[in-house]
Amino acid sequence: MSDFEGIKALVTGGASGIGRATAGLLAERGAQVAVLDLDPSPVDKPLLAYRADVTDDASVREAVAAAVADLGGLDVLINNAGIGAQGTVEDNPDDEWHRVLDVNVVGMVRIARACLPHLRASAHAAIVNTCSIAATAGLPQRALYSATKGAVYSLTLAMAADHVREGIRVNCVNPGTVDTPWVGRLLDAAPEPAAERAALEARQPTGRLVSAAEVAGAIAYLAGPHSGATTGTALAVDGGMQGL
Ligand code: NAD
Repeated sequence: MSDFEGIKALVTGGASGIGRATAGLLAERGAQVAVLDLDPSPVDKPLLAYRADVTDDASVREAVAAAVADLGGLDVLINNAGIGAQGTVEDNPDDEWHRVLDVNVVGMVRIARACLPHLRASAHAAIVNTCSIAATAGLPQRALYSATKGAVYSLTLAMAADHVREGIRVNCVNPGTVDTPWVGRLLDAAPEPAAERAALEARQPTGRLVSAAEVAGAIAYLAGPHSGATTGTALAVDGGMQGL
């Protein structure tokens, strides 16, 4: 498929996991892709790579400006960089709340602010935010993380309303448990990683974790020409988890 031919895309958090799979898929389908990441060293050609921290507005502005100059414009933003947090409201101190909100919520706002002027100039503008089923599913031990993703969900709806008349569509994906390096790190930290993985898989209605490629496919749908009338939606890619 070459449905992204001529499209210029920026993927944040594109050096690992869901972002990496998405950057690769968009490139395969013809897009010119720039990746923005804290550590872009794993990114290979033909993808462009820029180092930036989404919590640092100056570094975001600088990297977005460089990426847009090198791409020659911007049509698609995949706002994906994010970090996890575990625990109930009694477990995370204020500074942890501020740190995770700063990456997962304000980070997406900083990236969007830097990209919107360029997206307005595109005839195919789309933003896809990586949200999570944590936004709506009421997961245990994920109070802080869920609150950040609830904010991303509301932000997606608000941005869709604000920018639809400018020709910019804004949607989000809500992945379930995805087999990425992030989940790998969580499993490795468990006393028995293999048993923990088996237990995690058994909790999935499909009996397996979602793949990063499956989330990338949903992101590509929302970013691409086949979803031209779709804005302000959340697409679950959760192996049926939310339906339980
Ligand atoms: P990952 O850890 O494999 O990749 C995240 C990438 O984001 C990394 O390359 C990292 O360097 C980058 N990043 C982190 N903080 C950054 C910062 N401050 N500035 C710039 N880049 C930064 O994680 P993943 O599992 O691929 O997660 C990607 C997104 O998907 C996140 O928003 C996460 O909340 C969401 N998500 C993941 C899962 C899952 O089960 N893995 C489920 C639902 C949603």
